[in-house]
Amino acid sequence: MGHILIQDLCKSYRNRRIARRGPRDPYQPGEIMWILDNINLEFHEGEMVCLLGPSGCGKSTLLRLIAGFDGATSGEVTIDGKKVIGPSSNHIFVFQHSGLLPWMTVWQNVELGVRNVEDARARREKIQENIDMVDLTDFEQHYPHQLSGGMKRRAELARALAANPDVLIMDEPFNGLDFLSHMKIREEIVNMHELLRKTTLVVTHDIDDALLMGDRIVVMGGRPAQVKLNRQLDFPHPRDPKKNAALGDLRDELFLMLGVSYAV
Ligand code: ADP
Ligand code: MG
Repeated sequence: MGHILIQDLCKSYRNRRIARRGPRDPYQPGEIMWILDNINLEFHEGEMVCLLGPSGCGKSTLLRLIAGFDGATSGEVTIDGKKVIGPSSNHIFVFQHSGLLPWMTVWQNVELGVRNVEDARARREKIQENIDMVDLTDFEQHYPHQLSGGMKRRAELARALAANPDVLIMDEPFNGLDFLSHMKIREEIVNMHELLRKTTLVVTHDIDDALLMGDRIVVMGGRPAQVKLNRQLDFPHPRDPKKNAALGDLRDELFLMLGVSYAV
């Protein structure tokens, strides 16, 4: 489960601005803005896919189309052979940071993920299992405001995993975290992925995130956005671009591709 096929996907929006923003704004008010141009991708069951691309290029738009939150202008997304026509909470879970409900404890927030488990005991076990997995044991009765940023993110992760989706979608899951929390959560996501093998799509703007996490790296770019690179990575974990020459070369290639010279 969790095989995703994206075929000839195009997406446009109508520019709703009343006046042109400035001389460099390429779009007239009311004009159609093409965001995604003929995207063709296949993500295999259990794959961790990292999506990279400059800000505003359409990464979140692509995720929204895969999750069924928005419709394609043309082309289609199919998951396990079924065309995506709307959101499906059974199959897809969209990990949102700052998504915890502040008036609920960690336990109650994670419980939201397991609503579909009927048996009360099985539900309790599932909640505890996922809380333990993200190392929040003993914090079950804490409210979000009593947790650090990293702990909140782990609670969000527990809720996502408790939902047991076929596809896990994460749009910039490390946003707003301090450096160490970022590294720790990244490690946890990789470990959980090794364990559970859910098809996982992660948007990140951090090249090292993509290199260390991805079974596949997809780089989007251009306006409208096209797929600039779609590369499968066969490096075992843990990975270190400094020690692995092929990974180091790919890192250089990605930096160049995203238009940054990092050797400053
Ligand atoms: P990214 O996630 O790569 O930073 P987005 O997918 O959020 O980029 O946005 C891509 C482009 O689509 C942006 O130029 C944005 O302004 C435009 N866009 C996104 N959503 C809408 C919308 N609902 N209506 C109009 N334009 C939109
Ligand atoms: Mg985005």
